[in-house]
Amino acid sequence: AELPADPNETNEVRQVANALFSYVNPTKPSNPQLIHASKSVAELVGISEDEIQSESFLNAFSGKEILPETRPYAMAYAGHQFGNWAGQLGDGRAINLTEVEHDNSFFTLQLKGAGKTPYSRTADGLAVLRSSIREYLCAEAMYYLGVPTTRSLSLMLSGDEVLRDILYNGNPAFEKGAIVCRVAPSFIRFGSFELLTSRNELKNLKQFVEYTIKYYFPEIKGDPKEQYVQFFQKVADTTREMILHWQRVGFVHGVMNTDNMSIHGITIDYGPYGWLENYDPNWTPNTTDSQYRRYRFGNQPQIAQWNLYQLANALYPLINEAKPLEDILESFINEFDSDYKTMFLSKLGLFTSTETDSELIANLEATLQLSETDMTIFFRNLSLIKKEDSIENTIAKIKDAFYIPEEITNTILENWTIWFSLYLKRLATEVLSDEDRATKMNRINPKYVLRNYMAQLSIDAADKGDFSLVDELYTLLQKPYDEQPEMEKWFAKRPDWARSKVGCSM
Ligand code: AMP
Ligand code: MG
Ligand code: MG
Repeated sequence: AELPADPNETNEVRQVANALFSYVNPTKPSNPQLIHASKSVAELVGISEDEIQSESFLNAFSGKEILPETRPYAMAYAGHQFGNWAGQLGDGRAINLTEVEHDNSFFTLQLKGAGKTPYSRTADGLAVLRSSIREYLCAEAMYYLGVPTTRSLSLMLSGDEVLRDILYNGNPAFEKGAIVCRVAPSFIRFGSFELLTSRNELKNLKQFVEYTIKYYFPEIKGDPKEQYVQFFQKVADTTREMILHWQRVGFVHGVMNTDNMSIHGITIDYGPYGWLENYDPNWTPNTTDSQYRRYRFGNQPQIAQWNLYQLANALYPLINEAKPLEDILESFINEFDSDYKTMFLSKLGLFTSTETDSELIANLEATLQLSETDMTIFFRNLSLIKKEDSIENTIAKIKDAFYIPEEITNTILENWTIWFSLYLKRLATEVLSDEDRATKMNRINPKYVLRNYMAQLSIDAADKGDFSLVDELYTLLQKPYDEQPEMEKWFAKRPDWARSKVGCSM
């Protein structure tokens, strides 16, 4: 088709048929300012340390100027939100600047919060400093935890004010606008395929699946239908691995809609996410989901499978055979359960398996909840336990992780006594020395995660123009498994004031 002369003419909100993207330029920010940039992500995509400080970096990644010989675009996709079909969604506040090839890898560079697109629906296409800091820091924290994720290249202030809420007194509450540049192999989602199938655009669907395989899954070969099934298998496998990591580190995504599921099995779209503090499988950081808790911690594997069903439905018209897709979907939970057990045992420093392990895990999950136990502190401190410890000693080593008041703890100590006697017996059957076990455990159980109150403190300071805490947390979270004695203050339970604080999506 003819390209419109001015791409900005095309960003009016609309339904976009027969296409998976629309050209659209970022809205120019009035006074962009660089808050933070990741040297390692810059290096990954071929940008030098010097270039980060340049005017052209500032202009390109705030949306002020378009990189030479590129044509930014927003992607169309659909999706199921909270279990319901939501129709066309698309990048309402994300714009892909360009794709980059560096050291034989492909990257898409995407601005989030750079203005309206045809997919903005009723919203403004902007992002506020608060949510941008949360996304910027969390994606990098996840990467260094070893969790598959999008990366963060840069965090900028736009210099514009963004309206997010109307206060009770009727006054508008303005917040600082911000723009994050995030990086992924692609931003193709389950919902990208759902869009085409829902519109019965089967020719486009075939072309798009083949494009996706050719560029992002070149190892897949063979007869076309065979390839589509293999593609689905690959997405199921990487998704399963991602969720396993989420459960390992206590991450709750909060909005596992199919439009927020990457086909690369990477964590994408950091909205109202959160980290388990007191271990509670029913917890969700998303206040809009507080009734059904669809996206609660303990439900993430089931939701991933549900989302894969939607992807399977979207691919079905190309395959016309349910069995191979059903087989993959059915084995998803079995394989997850088996991997979960191994993973959970490794968090306990148990690297062999015995018949009673499931019981040991179930008993622990219940006991952790009784004493409202901080997940991160508990598992980290578990590595301090020695095979020869007395039960009193073991409990003393993990007691710091309890949120409940001291008096109540005594009634719960009995449960811990039972669990630790099982654990110490089990530990005795492991061949590793205490020291070797601790070293191994400390690569599995992080010492530092991005607790909500930490993000909030950095946001409050940044809002006043002080970005030192953003930088401090960024540096801290680059080594989440290391002892960092000067940073010990971040190895602490959530303070009382942060107890009911939840994440925020906008
Ligand atoms: P999310 O729940 O953040 O994944 O967003 C769901 C959909 O709403 C996506 O299509 C987003 O692009 C869109 N969206 C979220 N916030 C905004 C915003 N401020 N402006 C425009 N679109 C938005
Ligand atoms: Mg999203
Ligand atoms: Mg979002």
